[in-house]
Amino acid sequence: MRATVMYGAGDVRVENVPDARVIEPTDALVTVTRACICGSDLWPYKAMEQSEKGKVMGHEAIGVVESVGADVRNLKRGDLVVMPFAFSDGTCDFCHEGLQTSCVHGGFFGNEEIAGAQAEAVRVPLADGTLYVLPVGRDDALTASLLTLSDVMGTGHHAAVAAKVGPGKTVAVVGDGAVGLCGVIAAKRLGAEQIIILGRHPDRVARAKDFGATDVVGERGDEGIERVRELTNGIGVHSVLECVGTEQAMLTAAQIARPGGAVGRVGVPHYEAIPAAGPAFYNNVTVSGGPAPVRAYIEELLPDVLEGRIEPGRVFDRVTNLDGVPDGYRAMNEREALKVMVRP
Ligand SMILES: [Zn+2]
Repeated sequence: MRATVMYGAGDVRVENVPDARVIEPTDALVTVTRACICGSDLWPYKAMEQSEKGKVMGHEAIGVVESVGADVRNLKRGDLVVMPFAFSDGTCDFCHEGLQTSCVHGGFFGNEEIAGAQAEAVRVPLADGTLYVLPVGRDDALTASLLTLSDVMGTGHHAAVAAKVGPGKTVAVVGDGAVGLCGVIAAKRLGAEQIIILGRHPDRVARAKDFGATDVVGERGDEGIERVRELTNGIGVHSVLECVGTEQAMLTAAQIARPGGAVGRVGVPHYEAIPAAGPAFYNNVTVSGGPAPVRAYIEELLPDVLEGRIEPGRVFDRVTNLDGVPDGYRAMNEREALKVMVRP
């Protein structure tokens, strides 16, 4: 089968690899009908050390179940499923608590051990716990939005939950990537009154406003912090969604939270220590977040997607086939594309 293999920074190739197949009795083999490139794929794209073996990339997908192992009970051939970026057994203590990204038997797609979904097919471990059967046809008009339930919409929602967004609250979203924009959708959905997006890319900021952002702050660093304070009577916001993962973004996030506020961080951290420990301490700011248990959020978000109350699929601004994936990485890395959908 054909798949996207990353060998090092800037080195993404589409190649023939051994066919994905059922190995464990709890596996499913899924034919990928939609996948996408994630902002987090750009971290290795910028910095991965050259590897002989490479890794099959991709952790977001919708697909059709082709076959299942002998122990799979809840899925059958022909089911259309959404694949969360992490696999999980659905039975351990953490899965029962709704924290499937900490599943004791779980793991992540798209690394050296578990092949990813920017491919014609993907092997899904622990299929019963991982996959979610979608109640639509394979080319439904809602497919793009349903695809975001595999990562970015669930991750934006997680940032909002971790930042304790609720009715009437003031919110700031740090980052205007797909997750940041989904964070705006999530904040509005949870009843936030004021939603400030920190970003400067004109198209993305316009999209954020469509999704419910009330204010835009294009400045960075101390100037950006000052602007957020001006917009909030000098005190900062209740909830900050940190959707970038750089030290600068986290520093800003910690300093625009008002006393007693919360920061929900979902940007994969590329810093050693959480910055602004002092201000966060003296302001009693809660710092929370991590890899989103998107499997748990599918059930909550799905009705809103199906009934058209949220349209997270609008974060996609480019569609390609497998051959176009390397250029998709380039385009996202150069911020020419916001999020690229892949139709293998
Ligand atoms: Zn588990």
